[in-house]
Amino acid sequence: MPGHVFGRSTKGTLPVAARGDGCYIIDSAGKRYLDGSGGAAVSCLGHSDAGVRAALHEQLDALAFAHTGFFTSEAAESLADRLVEHAPEGIGRVYLVSGGSEGVEAAIKLARQYFMEIGQPRRHRVIARRQSYHGNTLGALAAGGNEWRRAQFAPLLVETSHIAPCYEYRDRLEGETPEAYGRRAADELDAEIRRLGPETVMAFIAEPVVGATAGAVPAVPGYLRRIREICDRHGVLLILDEVMCGMGRTGHLFACEEDGVAPDMITIAKGLGAGYQPIGALLTSGKIYDAIAAGSGFFQHGHTYMGHPMAAAAAGAVLDAILGRSLLARVRAQGEKLDAALRAELGQHPHVGDIRGRGLFRGIELVEDRDSKAPFDPARKLHAKIKAMAFEAGLICYPMGGTIDGQRGDHILLAPPFIIEDAQIDELVGKLSGAIKGALA
Ligand code: PMP
Repeated sequence: MPGHVFGRSTKGTLPVAARGDGCYIIDSAGKRYLDGSGGAAVSCLGHSDAGVRAALHEQLDALAFAHTGFFTSEAAESLADRLVEHAPEGIGRVYLVSGGSEGVEAAIKLARQYFMEIGQPRRHRVIARRQSYHGNTLGALAAGGNEWRRAQFAPLLVETSHIAPCYEYRDRLEGETPEAYGRRAADELDAEIRRLGPETVMAFIAEPVVGATAGAVPAVPGYLRRIREICDRHGVLLILDEVMCGMGRTGHLFACEEDGVAPDMITIAKGLGAGYQPIGALLTSGKIYDAIAAGSGFFQHGHTYMGHPMAAAAAGAVLDAILGRSLLARVRAQGEKLDAALRAELGQHPHVGDIRGRGLFRGIELVEDRDSKAPFDPARKLHAKIKAMAFEAGLICYPMGGTIDGQRGDHILLAPPFIIEDAQIDELVGKLSGAIKGALA
């Protein structure tokens, strides 16, 4: 192999992924890797789903591509219809893109255009949370709270400020109820909007369950409802980024259903194409769409591959599988088993501070000291060692390290395919536990 592909790392070489078999990826040497993180919460149906493959063959035989400047397609229309049908209240339209960052870019631009068109042009600021990832393109990067990712590209394109995340393990005070903590955490948004001036703020963006930067941290009950009230009070749009936690990952098609919140916009991606095709979507309220339709009549955005029929066909088949094969109930059941297995194996471990998450979206936070919750020295790169040892043992898991505000441990994100069997849960937990113990030794 020539080896000219330029990947994330400029060091070392990677095994060559050759085949997929259910929850496993098999490399060119025949080694099998259990996909304990779905890549990064992508492969919700595993790697050889017959329904998606059949849908892709059918679409390919009929037509691969037609530009959306000229045509719509049955695949795209039916996908959008079904997403709207199952979306939270108020969502009325779908804008199809090719991935998560593109979805977030579209959300930010749609918010901006909406306020321009309704005569509130001063609303341009975005508020997000310090512990968040919203993508790597310049607008989405500006929204994300990850300082080290942002720093080298500053000044960023979108004026964003960041409040604290809802991070119960670290921030709930002793004796404080989760509900009281949720109110206190959400009220930071109110304070920030007032500080900036409500007439300048267009949107608040957050992940309902924080993924890559935090390791599956759900908001406490009531937090997102309070956030919704605060946004409404100040006329600010609420964008929920479900690129990672959406499409059934938490046991609900949209994670925010469990929080009882209807946002103005939702972004989804990863699990939408389940790895079979690159696709993302921005779901938006009818209110926003109608305002633009009644105004300029044209969302000033667009990408060549938006609404790609192959991608839409794959996503339609993914949605068929999730809804038709009762996979949401399966995610909840297997998620409980994964949680129980993790707690049984690692719950008492002196360096496992927190095990958390929803459905098949689970995180483990590692700490130097359980009582003080002090993280390990980031220079130790514990998360990277765990990833490497697990990979060696044939397990894919998604690690993250470093600190935010000096208060975050290394963590491991787990997001296995929804089809994971009980025996594979045991294999996952056994190999992960071996890797954690090995990396700490
Ligand atoms: N938002 C969230 C919450 C994500 O987790 C990601 C990807 N990790 C993105 C946006 C960006 O998606 P993509 O990598 O497909 O551009």
